[in-house]
Amino acid sequence: MRMPNSGDRRWRAPVVAVAAVSAVLLVSPASAVTPTADGAGQNIELNRLPDEEASVVEVLLADSAELDKLVATGVDLDHDVTRTEEGIVAHAVVTPSEAAALRARGYRLGETVFQPSDSAERVAEREATIAAHKAENQAFTASLVASDASDVKIIRADYYTSGTDQILSVEAKWAQGQTSTNALTVVRDSGPGTALGSGGTQNISRFVDAGVYMYHRGASTVTTRPDRIQITSPTGGVAVAQVKEWLPIPADDPEGPGYQKDFVSSYLTPTELYDRVHQLAAEFPGLAEVVELPYKTNGYRRKAQAVLGAANANRVAVDSLAWGHEGGNDISVELVNPGAASRPLSVTVTGKDIRVSLATNASGALTSTAAQVAAALNANAGSIVRAYTYRGDAGAGVVAAAARTGLTDGLKAPASVSRDPQPMYAIRIGKHRDGSRMGVLAYAQEHAREWVPPLVAIETAERLLRNYGHDGRTKQLLNNLDIWIAPSINPDGGHYSFYDYASQRKNMTNHCPLTDAADALGRNSWGVDNNRNYTEYSLFDGYSGASSSCTSGTYAGPSELSEPEDKNLDWLAQHKNIKFSMNLHSSGNYFMWSPGAYTTPDRISAPRPTLAEESFFWGASSRILTAIKRHRNMAVTPARTGPISDVLYSAAGNSGDMLWYKYGIYAWNFEVGTSFQPAWNEAHAETMEFSNGLVELMRVARDFDTDHQRPKSGLSVTASNTPGMVDVTFTVSEPAAVFYTLDGSAPTYSSTLYASAGVREGGETVTLPAGTKIHWFSVDAAGNVENNYRADGTGKNYQKGSAVLPTS
Ligand SMILES: [Zn+2]
Repeated sequence: MRMPNSGDRRWRAPVVAVAAVSAVLLVSPASAVTPTADGAGQNIELNRLPDEEASVVEVLLADSAELDKLVATGVDLDHDVTRTEEGIVAHAVVTPSEAAALRARGYRLGETVFQPSDSAERVAEREATIAAHKAENQAFTASLVASDASDVKIIRADYYTSGTDQILSVEAKWAQGQTSTNALTVVRDSGPGTALGSGGTQNISRFVDAGVYMYHRGASTVTTRPDRIQITSPTGGVAVAQVKEWLPIPADDPEGPGYQKDFVSSYLTPTELYDRVHQLAAEFPGLAEVVELPYKTNGYRRKAQAVLGAANANRVAVDSLAWGHEGGNDISVELVNPGAASRPLSVTVTGKDIRVSLATNASGALTSTAAQVAAALNANAGSIVRAYTYRGDAGAGVVAAAARTGLTDGLKAPASVSRDPQPMYAIRIGKHRDGSRMGVLAYAQEHAREWVPPLVAIETAERLLRNYGHDGRTKQLLNNLDIWIAPSINPDGGHYSFYDYASQRKNMTNHCPLTDAADALGRNSWGVDNNRNYTEYSLFDGYSGASSSCTSGTYAGPSELSEPEDKNLDWLAQHKNIKFSMNLHSSGNYFMWSPGAYTTPDRISAPRPTLAEESFFWGASSRILTAIKRHRNMAVTPARTGPISDVLYSAAGNSGDMLWYKYGIYAWNFEVGTSFQPAWNEAHAETMEFSNGLVELMRVARDFDTDHQRPKSGLSVTASNTPGMVDVTFTVSEPAAVFYTLDGSAPTYSSTLYASAGVREGGETVTLPAGTKIHWFSVDAAGNVENNYRADGTGKNYQKGSAVLPTS
């Protein structure tokens, strides 16, 4: 339900101008369209057969209207929508039969960009990495035994200064590190020629990734520069190493000297993600704690099921009453031809074995219908199973005999993945975790198959905790912020994606009725899209981009907040000090905010942010996207930066909109990288660059309430190689977004955005006809607008210039 804003927690950008937004955009919920029962006749009955795997396939669309129609079909779209001169290319996640259904509706399909075999390769790659690390550990141990050397080896010993602090960072590998949880103690000298121990000691602790021991590591402040260190392992091995000076890095880098990063070495399952945050909280008890969220998920579990028969009319679906792992998987059913005339239908149950003897007529032919067999099973084996005809069919077809068939939940994860309702966890980071500091919330993996975003969450948590001791800016962040990081919002679906069905998007909960796809053949289509189950501008409020079909990729659930995963995010957002959030998805390299939903076909949007708020979104974007770009020069483009409903498509009931409209949180959404499960080298690079961006959001949050300085900007005009043209660049006094016009009109937030991600790297060069009039303004990361300009097109005091070479 769209509730009025209760209490104004939003931090208004410190800008005087709060202009009215065009009235057509301000729709009251009461006037919203209610979807008709048949989804306005647009829903395609997509049937994801269980033996079909899904691929990511291009859908070629003429325009936004066609995109809206595609979204309204409820098809499973990924987050990549490319606007080209020829039209729009969207990415659909479809099985061959779903692709055929789309083609039958007249949609044009293009290239297949991701296939099931790609996921299998990713899993194989992850397993190979884990195996290689384990083999490395064994080889390391074996080589030490062979050479009769110490069982501990110092890998790095780096000394550096940070502000007035002196830091020693040590990494060492211990042969027992895989099996023993002991920390290692580092003994320091106090300079050349001094005794070991004279400089004091520090402990370093295990770094375990994807269940495999990597090495021990840790950094501590020291009072004097050590020359040598020594480690004596608990098993008596001794290693000594020379301390090296760590090179300084450029002064404008937001990461101070010795800044540590790169803490992930392979994809992590939800179980591993939660283990990791527990390890981190245990290692940094003064800075972090794990919070168990109040609602457990339904769990990585299903009823054991089978569908007997081949045609819809003679199929009988059988489900265990117990969960598969709690006895359901032991149940079996056989359908027997009695081999004699005029026999009645009968069911016998021996333990968990059900035997159905089918009825015959006077000539010995089988006569039991599917409806009769289902009724007989319910009457005689109803204490362990329920049976029903297939997807609402009358079941008038005669059932054939069938060999004994085991019911199964079909779940393939190892027993180490719990089948119980799953507790969900967030790690809360900060020196003062009592609600007294400004709160920031990051959460990942609402969509199960998006394996990179959780790594961004973990990497960011580790950067914050491991740099606190020696990086002044990180210390400032943790002393002044209250940071919540939830690495997996959809752990059941996440496990299912890793172990059973790589392209799983939704959670695992079956809301399909017995007359729909509740049977064994529908299991890969079950589940609620957790990012469509929230309370603002939802399907239930009449907004577009979510489906009422239980098998749709964007199924909104039976009601708002029906799902425990979504209740947990709502609970997190209720912490009144939280002012900023980041919803981490993949893929497409987008950076987005509200509104995220509109109605169709009239495209009435949820309310736009005010100009002051939009100032803040844009200004902060320039900083966050610049931080992302620093890693490998990947620029999130202006075309992929902005409100969700402008740059992607309508997504009714998404979490970003709930956080913004219901709780007044500045809520962003990342779409990380290029695909759901890229090869590891790419996944690693994406993790590093978007962690840069997420850490920068923490800095934005910290700076937000202290920055009241308005940005200043200027124009630089130089000669062009093209006759009659000149090259123009903008300069800004601090990271800020610049919007400009070339037609003499007053600039607004709809005007051209100048090189939003390129401030630190130097902005783009715009080549213009000599004499072009240029009007512009800049806005910084705190939402301060240059000259206090009112950016609605009615203000006058924007910057003005001409594309004219300065006279020398
Ligand atoms: Zn997603």
